[in-house]
Amino acid sequence: MTTSSVDQQIRSRLGDAGVRYTTGRQRVTSALVASDGPRSAAELQTQLGSAIPLSSLYRSLAVMASAGVLAPHHGSQGVTRYELAEWLSGHHHHLVCIDCGSVDDIELPDALEATLHELVDTVADEGHFVALGHALEVEGRCKACK
Ligand SMILES: [Zn+2]
Ligand SMILES: [Zn+2]
Repeated sequence: MTTSSVDQQIRSRLGDAGVRYTTGRQRVTSALVASDGPRSAAELQTQLGSAIPLSSLYRSLAVMASAGVLAPHHGSQGVTRYELAEWLSGHHHHLVCIDCGSVDDIELPDALEATLHELVDTVADEGHFVALGHALEVEGRCKACK
C-alpha cells in the first residue's frame, strides 16, 4: 500500500461525495498509511505535530468516515479511532489492549483466514444467519502493558 495510490483512490471517492481533499486531509491519509492500527484524533495530532487544530482533525475524520474512506473503531474506553476503510487497506483483524487501549492491526496468513471463514460460517449457521463479513477483535495486553 503506497500513499500515492491510496491518495488517488481517496481523492476520487471524496470527489464523488462532493468533499474537498484538503492538505490537512491528505496529511491524515499519510499518517494513517504509516500507522499500524486505528488512531484517535489526539494520537494523529501528536503524530502530525500540532500544525492541525484538534477541532479540524475531528471534522476531517468525521467527513472522511461518512464518505466511506475511513472506518471508525469504537474502543472500550469510549475513544473512537479511525483507520483506512478495508477496501483501501485490505482485510485484517485487531489486537486490542485492555490496559492502554492501543489497537494494532493484524493480517492473518491465507490458510488461517480460511479456517476463520469456516468457523464464522459455522457460527452463522447456528444462528440461521448468512455471514457476509467478519471482524476479529482479540482483547488482551500489548507488549508494553504485559
Ligand atoms: Zn497496552
Ligand atoms: Zn485495523
